[in-house]
Amino acid sequence: MLEKQWYKAECRKCGKTYYRKSAESVQGFCGRGVCGDGRAFLQLSKRKRPISPLQTYRHLANYFAGAGFEISPSMNVASTCGKTDLVIAGVQVFDGLIHHGKEIGSGQMFIGQPSVRMQFQDKVADEDGVSTSFVNVCTEKMHQTFEDHLHTVDRWLGVFSSLGLHMKDLTIVVRTGEKDWGTGTFVAIELFLIYAGLELGDAAYMHVPTRYGSPVPISDIGFGLERIVWAANKVPQYYDLLMPGSVAVPRGACDAFRTMTLLALCGVHPGNKGAGLQFRRLAKTVSDQYGGTDPSVLIAYYADYWAHFVSDMPMGSVSQVICLELDRFLNLKICKAKNLPPPREETTEEYFQRLVYTMGMDAQELRQLIQLCRN
Ligand SMILES: [Zn+2]
Repeated sequence: MLEKQWYKAECRKCGKTYYRKSAESVQGFCGRGVCGDGRAFLQLSKRKRPISPLQTYRHLANYFAGAGFEISPSMNVASTCGKTDLVIAGVQVFDGLIHHGKEIGSGQMFIGQPSVRMQFQDKVADEDGVSTSFVNVCTEKMHQTFEDHLHTVDRWLGVFSSLGLHMKDLTIVVRTGEKDWGTGTFVAIELFLIYAGLELGDAAYMHVPTRYGSPVPISDIGFGLERIVWAANKVPQYYDLLMPGSVAVPRGACDAFRTMTLLALCGVHPGNKGAGLQFRRLAKTVSDQYGGTDPSVLIAYYADYWAHFVSDMPMGSVSQVICLELDRFLNLKICKAKNLPPPREETTEEYFQRLVYTMGMDAQELRQLIQLCRN
């Protein structure tokens, strides 16, 4: 790092080592999380013309293809064989190798990997810059030395610069941490890249134990695509980039529909465990807090976005799966409100028809009750 003229300092708050590009800009705080102002980057000069997440993805993919990386197809988010129910990062492309000894085709890959991190769900409504799903743009290399790894970090810094994120505004915070992906503990050296207070992602180097064979040296450098775009465009709110332009919807609702659409596109069905349970939790959030939201525009918009990365299910079924699950919660509310016969696996319309035409309920009264429960 010193060779490349990064100046080293120790954070006065958290004690971690960090690097900045000039000695003058070393200010005593690393700027990560509680040690900085997460919105300071909004004060920096912005691009003349904003860039969309998909344009940014293509820019990155073209750059890394030119540098000899294989552009690897994204994984289905439900196709994990490691410790998580859902794919949480592109590095899981190595899961097959680590857990089952399966050979991986290429030594160096660039991936735009849709990822789901449900632990962020409670923060979405109150904290900007957080979403339960995002595209993890990453380079994944194996059998690399630490020097090669730093060389790839340099490539990322170069491509960030081409997007208008300049090195002088970046801080690199160093952490070494012990990890365990289910095959034994190992140490990772992590470099967190902070752009004037906004954490973009990190570069990790580690020797990961495998179930079959010796540990594999892995260089895993990954960032949130949507965060890079936020840093480049500097729009006031992160969700300005994540929601359709033609409707105004609270960000909690946007987030839930965005992630449910991704799950449905990957063939996940709501259920009581694993990925299905995460789906159900999102549907419950919509039902409890955003019941009046019209799903059609949101589902179409997010399906269009995610389909650039994954698409195992046709659009019609995606919409059907989500709406049926939302109706399931609505039916339960209706049933509970008036102690009605329990709903089956049916749409609210089917429940209505059944209650009116086979059980003899008053249609007008039931219609009003449904409206009341919906909002
Ligand atoms: Zn700090």
